[in-house]
Amino acid sequence: MTASTPNLPQPTITIVGYGSQGRAHALNLRESGFDVTVGLRPGGPTEAKAKADGFLVKSPAEAVKDADLVAVLTPDMVQKTLYYDVLAPNMKQGAVLLFAHGLNVHFGLIEPREDLDVVLVAPKGPGALVRREYEIGRGVPCIYAVHQDRSGKAEQFALSYAAGLGGARANLIKTTFKEETETDLFGEQAVLCGGASSLVQAGFETLVEAGYQPEIAYYEVLHELKLIVDLFYEGGITRMLEFISETAQYGDYVSGPRVIDAATKARMKDILTDIQDGTFTKNWVAEYEAGLPNYKKFKQADMEHPIEVVGKQLRSKMVWLAENAPKPTSQQAAAA
Ligand code: NAD
Ligand code: MG
Repeated sequence: MTASTPNLPQPTITIVGYGSQGRAHALNLRESGFDVTVGLRPGGPTEAKAKADGFLVKSPAEAVKDADLVAVLTPDMVQKTLYYDVLAPNMKQGAVLLFAHGLNVHFGLIEPREDLDVVLVAPKGPGALVRREYEIGRGVPCIYAVHQDRSGKAEQFALSYAAGLGGARANLIKTTFKEETETDLFGEQAVLCGGASSLVQAGFETLVEAGYQPEIAYYEVLHELKLIVDLFYEGGITRMLEFISETAQYGDYVSGPRVIDAATKARMKDILTDIQDGTFTKNWVAEYEAGLPNYKKFKQADMEHPIEVVGKQLRSKMVWLAENAPKPTSQQAAAA
């Protein structure tokens, strides 16, 4: 098999980390014709998985020694130590260092060696989707960037990697480490993860505090959100407006701006400022280094929220959900 785009370089690749992104990247790149090795801590939680998928697994220090390109796909907060303790002393001269998120490089937590090319390839989707789309002959759009170009071919390396992931079958957009990092953090904080979960919890609490049944509240503010988001995804807000009733549309127009108003948007701008000036990253690094005391408290509170209790009961009756579906036999899983 050959790589999908013949005029691009075809580096030997080491993937460090075999989680959500790491596994998908390793499998897609191998099937696109790249020579892929996986670097993992011996006895770490994903070592067995990478071996079961047929990869040569070495310790990160060993795995990166001969690689033309090293993809850093561990959690963001371990990348600084990993880089200085393991990657910088072991990567070969003139190799390519690749990230899937620009945070460490953009905020100066990692200052890569002068001789390295430093690039970013970030698929706009979780690892499971990156894999699934590739398997059915499609791909997830990727954004890519160059931070440091020593070989004069750094962009070609990024494009080659993105093509190997399947991204070129969808869409490749050039960006910068700054733009990727700041927009990614803003999106997950203000809208996707932070904004959406707080909106759902507040809606649920409002209904339950007013005396409505939690089960009904759950269906209204969490379950049905998927139907709406699917319409956004397929055809934007226009498509949602085509599908919802006139009554729902009128309610949208008059009440949406009462929930998200100019004050909300001003707070979104504050969030963006904290991201841009490094305040968020500074706080996150301090929280991580202190052993995640607040992170753990917040996570516990989210998991114990009453919407989670009722949600668990209701989802156990939704036979179509993956968590209730019969698990594939090991033979089926191996064939997949
Ligand atoms: P993950 O938590 O799913 O997986 C992390 C992997 O790194 C695991 O295999 C873990 O065992 C391994 N690991 C942890 N510490 C290690 C160490 N010290 N040395 C070697 N291996 C170690 O991570 P993820 O969500 O795939 O994120 C990886 C990168 O991809 C991050 O930079 C993230 O920002 C980025 N990214 C993630 C997504 C996503 O949807 N999850 C999307 C785009 C970009
Ligand atoms: Mg992110």
